[in-house]
Amino acid sequence: MRGVSTLTQFGQKHVTKGLGRLTEAVVTKGEGSYVQLDDGRRMLDFTTGIGVTSLGHCHPKVSKAAADQCMNLVHGQCSIAFHEPYLRLIEKLLPIMPDPSLDSFFFWNSGSEAVEGAIKMARWYTGRQNIITMQGGYHGRTFGAMAVTRSKTIYSEGCHPLMPGVFPVAYPYWHQHGLPPNTSEDELSERSLYQLDLLLSQQVNPKDVAAILIEPVIGEGGYVPAPKSYLEGLRTVCDKHGILLIIDEVQSGFLRTGKYFAIEYSGVRPDIMIVAKGIANGFPLSGIISRKEITDKLSPGSMGGTYAGNAVACAAGVAVADAMKEDKIQENVAARSKELFDSLAELRKDAEIGSKILDVRGRGLMVAVEFASPTGTPHDPLVDPSAPQNLAKRVAKRCLEKNLFILTTSVYEVIRFIPPLNISKEDLAKGCKIFAEAVKEVVR
Ligand code: PMP
Repeated sequence: MRGVSTLTQFGQKHVTKGLGRLTEAVVTKGEGSYVQLDDGRRMLDFTTGIGVTSLGHCHPKVSKAAADQCMNLVHGQCSIAFHEPYLRLIEKLLPIMPDPSLDSFFFWNSGSEAVEGAIKMARWYTGRQNIITMQGGYHGRTFGAMAVTRSKTIYSEGCHPLMPGVFPVAYPYWHQHGLPPNTSEDELSERSLYQLDLLLSQQVNPKDVAAILIEPVIGEGGYVPAPKSYLEGLRTVCDKHGILLIIDEVQSGFLRTGKYFAIEYSGVRPDIMIVAKGIANGFPLSGIISRKEITDKLSPGSMGGTYAGNAVACAAGVAVADAMKEDKIQENVAARSKELFDSLAELRKDAEIGSKILDVRGRGLMVAVEFASPTGTPHDPLVDPSAPQNLAKRVAKRCLEKNLFILTTSVYEVIRFIPPLNISKEDLAKGCKIFAEAVKEVVR
């Protein structure tokens, strides 16, 4: 057996530098809300592999369903024949769709692929080429997904020109409008819809727009829920001009925000919904969900992929859907969410700390704390993470030293909380305590 430190060195030598990492240690095991590192540390995991292992690492029901499926059928090429787990998963998902019109499914492997497929479907169905995306939006790192991603230049550096026909528009996040954090949702909504109006009158004619693409809670771009009035406004614009509304629920879906899908908070109907991450608790699976009337326009063979809708991943997805109900995950999210917000409110009561925290926001267990930038501007991603102006990165690093995995978001001073949805009261409190200590140590 290779020694653990040798293993890290091996990785440093042979794994692409293009991957960023939180720690140089090697993960050897995952169990519930914890991961074991090869340097002996047991980390409390408030990242869930970026919103994936929502039911905790190696959830017994999900792992067993996958193991059973491995002994039955691993690969059932969906371009050759339907396979049972694919169809069983659709049966489980139909009743939880945010709108009954969403009745046609295509499963893929990753969120990025699903984004690509959704763009393709929208172009095909409407016969139009252009896509409106959100400033700060993140949709992936493959070529089409990269073009609609506008959260950080690093994702597309050296790759321009990107896919043409993508128009970014301001998201209702106060930073993007030069407004203070206490700006009302109505004002943010109004200003963002005004920007959209300008875009549609000055830059691209609405009759040439295939789709508007949005995360209902912008993830990488700051963990900001879109106001109901804004999403309603988008729906109205889409209906008026025959534009499709694509809702990217890759990070916010599957109870992450307390409802199955974050779009439910608005009551708005998506034309296409993209899901991934929490759908199968770690097995590679994503989905493009739309209505039959749209997908019936596609030519057979225009969608597909060797591993698309893998049988083991679909079986895991079925088990996730069952476990979410049986384990009463929605109730747990509601209780833990309240405790998390209470703990952050308590932290803000300290005058010195409070003055450094600009905003606490989110829904369910998709929650952010935004620090005041000491320079008053968004941080420069190229600045050394330990530089004094980079508060969020320094807090995350301090948490790491205290055995808590926690992530930042993109260009602002934001820490994101994405703990397992079934985390216990005790583990949540433990993580909150570590976070509070780390903030005090960094800020003071
Ligand atoms: N959309 C959103 C909202 C995401 O958060 C992500 C991943 N962080 C993606 C798309 C891309 O998914 P994947 O990494 O599985 O390709």
